[in-house]
Amino acid sequence: MTFRVLLVEDNPGDARLVELLLSEVGSAAFEISHSDTLGEALELLKAEEFDVALVDLSLPDASGLDSVKAMQGAVPYLPVVVLSGTADEEVAVEAISGGAEDYLVKGQGDGALISRAIRYAIERKKAEERLFYLSQHDALTGLANRALFQDRLGHAVARAEREGEAVALISVDLDHFKDFNDALGNRFGDELLKTAAGRLKECVREGDTVARLGSDEFGVILEDVSDVPFVVSVARRISEVLSRPFEVRGEEMIMSAGMGIAICPPSKPERLVREASAALQRAKSAGTGEYRFFSSEMNVEAFEQLAFESSLRLALERGEFELHYQPQVELSTGRIVGAEALLRWNRPGLGLTPPSKVIPVLERNGMILAVGAWVIETACEQSRAWRDQGLPPLRMAVNLSPKQFAQPNLSEVISKALARASLAPEDLELEITESLLMDDTEESETKLKVIKAERGVRVSIDDFGTGYSSLAYLKRFPLDVLKVDRSFIWDLTEEADDASIVAAIIGLAHNLRLKVIAEGVETSAQLDYLRRQGCDEAQGYYFSRPISATDFARLLESDETPFDTNPTN
Ligand code: C2E
Ligand code: MG
Ligand code: MG
Repeated sequence: MTFRVLLVEDNPGDARLVELLLSEVGSAAFEISHSDTLGEALELLKAEEFDVALVDLSLPDASGLDSVKAMQGAVPYLPVVVLSGTADEEVAVEAISGGAEDYLVKGQGDGALISRAIRYAIERKKAEERLFYLSQHDALTGLANRALFQDRLGHAVARAEREGEAVALISVDLDHFKDFNDALGNRFGDELLKTAAGRLKECVREGDTVARLGSDEFGVILEDVSDVPFVVSVARRISEVLSRPFEVRGEEMIMSAGMGIAICPPSKPERLVREASAALQRAKSAGTGEYRFFSSEMNVEAFEQLAFESSLRLALERGEFELHYQPQVELSTGRIVGAEALLRWNRPGLGLTPPSKVIPVLERNGMILAVGAWVIETACEQSRAWRDQGLPPLRMAVNLSPKQFAQPNLSEVISKALARASLAPEDLELEITESLLMDDTEESETKLKVIKAERGVRVSIDDFGTGYSSLAYLKRFPLDVLKVDRSFIWDLTEEADDASIVAAIIGLAHNLRLKVIAEGVETSAQLDYLRRQGCDEAQGYYFSRPISATDFARLLESDETPFDTNPTN
């Protein structure tokens, strides 16, 4: 056994003596590094690992216990043996209570004594460190114990309050643990708890805490929580990992756990613990493998979100998506010249769900690509169907989400849909948003050019004016149509600012040879203003809400008598 010793001693004679005495000890080997000053010693501690330090109490740059404190500040559990020139009992006591493990008087004792002092010092420090660890951890599972849990929870809540974040506490209690334990014995019970502990740790991020709070009760602290669905996802993961089979004497057993969840804010640490266990009680009485939030509103919200997301996942294959169509009217003639396809989810028993609720979820779970392709295909098919019914040909507009635009095979999706419906590229219009162009300018520019050059489809900028781009900037991109966002149209007749912005947009767009469509036109006064400013087309409730394909066909049939786009005359 070799001990690495840091000897801090400025007197060369004393240093040499210690080295000599230790080299004569047969039972252990000492590898000694020597430094003359505290400063040098601290450098060495940073660079190398030592088992122990022997420190002279009077150094050129430090005296007394300052050096012990400085060294233990640098390496927390460093065992230190103090060397002193005098046998002063008071200094000895002070040294020990100040953190040193032992006290040797120079010139007294032999190598064996110094060696013993060193080895005891190391042992004692190890024991001390171990005790401290044990005072914070559960011996069986190695998880944090209740003391450390409470400490961490306190810190987490304080931090959350400071940073305006949330902390979630999940109380986990294994179902039927006592039965398992009674039937199979304590040894098995211990194994099971250890496995459960390991699996629980898999479910959290680094920095989160998993603690054992009772025999089969665990506490999980999640910091930095941004929303309820995240907490739900952790709870479900816990439920999932714990229900993976456990092997017991070659047989597979299934475990489950109940969970109670509480969130701070609003609750403070002690309340949080009580709320989580109240929720746990409710989960337990509901059955096995259940979780409950403390507040019932959270339950409802979380469950609704869950149900929503999981049924949305099946909506495409179950054919629950529909497109509704909103007419685009040419202001010079009052005729319908285009249709915008708008996604609706016809959720069984719950009716039509608007895209504002659906699209963000599809974006998150990656389904937007499949659904987006379905939208393009279906809109093209519909356009073909109307033509085949003898209705006047229209331009069909579909909305593209940024992820769809970024997908590599977008251009194939488009050409396939066009070919299947035997439509010309210019019969299709893609609506994209400004932010999409601004996010990755180079890439978007290339992409758009490819789509336009190869396919010749039309491209429009949707919700124009809500982003941060300028018209001049848009010149870079090959665009055809600009759709003025409905927020400008709504206040057109009340807000002079909005009116002049709209007039300016129309003028500039025309200079860039872009067609202008006004969105969200609801009143004849708005329509009148737009027409007088030379806006090309308009879309909005004034003409029609988005309607089903059948209703749209009926509207087209009656288009023999066009809309009156000059209502003030
Ligand atoms: P958008 O492209 O700006 O679509 C126009 C929205 O304005 C539609 O809402 C339409 O119902 C609404 N609207 C039209 N005229 C009026 C009016 O006069 N007054 C009022 N108050 N509203 C009017 P919707 O259908 O809820 O769609 C919302 C957004 O969802 C769309 O905004 C579009 O960005 C997105 N979206 C819709 N369908 C799809 C789709 O198939 N794919 C993608 N990626 N996004 C879609
Ligand atoms: Mg649109
Ligand atoms: Mg829009």
